[in-house]
Amino acid sequence: MSEWRIGDLKLIKVLEHEDLWQGRIIAPMMTAENVLKEAGWLVPRFANEAGRIRISFHSLIVESGGLRILIDTCVGDNKQREFSRWNMKQCGYLAALEQAGYPRESIDRVICTHLHVDHVGWNTMLENGRWVPTFPNARYLLSRREWEHWSQITGGENGLVMNDSVRPVIDAGLVDWIEGGFQVTKEVATELTPGHSPGHMSVRIVSRGHEGVVSGDMIHHPIQCGHPEWKTGFDFDADLACATRSGFLARCADERTLFVGTHFASPTAGRIERRGEAFRFEA
Ligand SMILES: [Zn+2]
Repeated sequence: MSEWRIGDLKLIKVLEHEDLWQGRIIAPMMTAENVLKEAGWLVPRFANEAGRIRISFHSLIVESGGLRILIDTCVGDNKQREFSRWNMKQCGYLAALEQAGYPRESIDRVICTHLHVDHVGWNTMLENGRWVPTFPNARYLLSRREWEHWSQITGGENGLVMNDSVRPVIDAGLVDWIEGGFQVTKEVATELTPGHSPGHMSVRIVSRGHEGVVSGDMIHHPIQCGHPEWKTGFDFDADLACATRSGFLARCADERTLFVGTHFASPTAGRIERRGEAFRFEA
């Protein structure tokens, strides 16, 4: 577990799993060769010596206004998935939550930055053969724009994901439909950062003049700070995603925001520094 302070608030990371991937899975330009060109700062924290990138799947939890707010719910257990490493996965996620002091019943709000497979998994869990909400006392804050898009695609893995990880929380009456720009508490708000997906949201946390952001997937890996123009294969609108990423990084650099990467391996949070035309993640 990692922990950071933003003003009066504490932000913690609860890890589901960390993995080594070929960067090309995410972005064609993220080849082993290109990763190793920047080995000096990427290895070993964010890549290995073979140029494979380290990628993390974790939830972030912030307490604000008396609410325990959990951001993104990772891949999940027991789910039928196309990607073999995610298929019927078994992780110690719920135990890790408990150990961190946040048993699932104690969570008050769940925010999914978007409705991709690795951000909604623990929305639900398997109980007696049925998918039931993992966080029964939470309001799930989901983007209506995301739902309107992804719920139209009923086949393939997307259909499975909607059926096992999103519909059950809607059917249980636990969803509040929101968009980027929604004020969750006085200190925590969602922010529209579109491109990776239609209604993608990042989360901004402000307390006593200090500011932090949880990125979501408007960036996947620290190497993209130096190459915000690299397109990823999973983007709904790759040009818009690139523009969003550049603008967001520039604002974080100028405002000295604590930047918390949704897929950044440990140490996960740091500052964005300007480097010429681009940026660098300094943790
Ligand atoms: Zn993701």
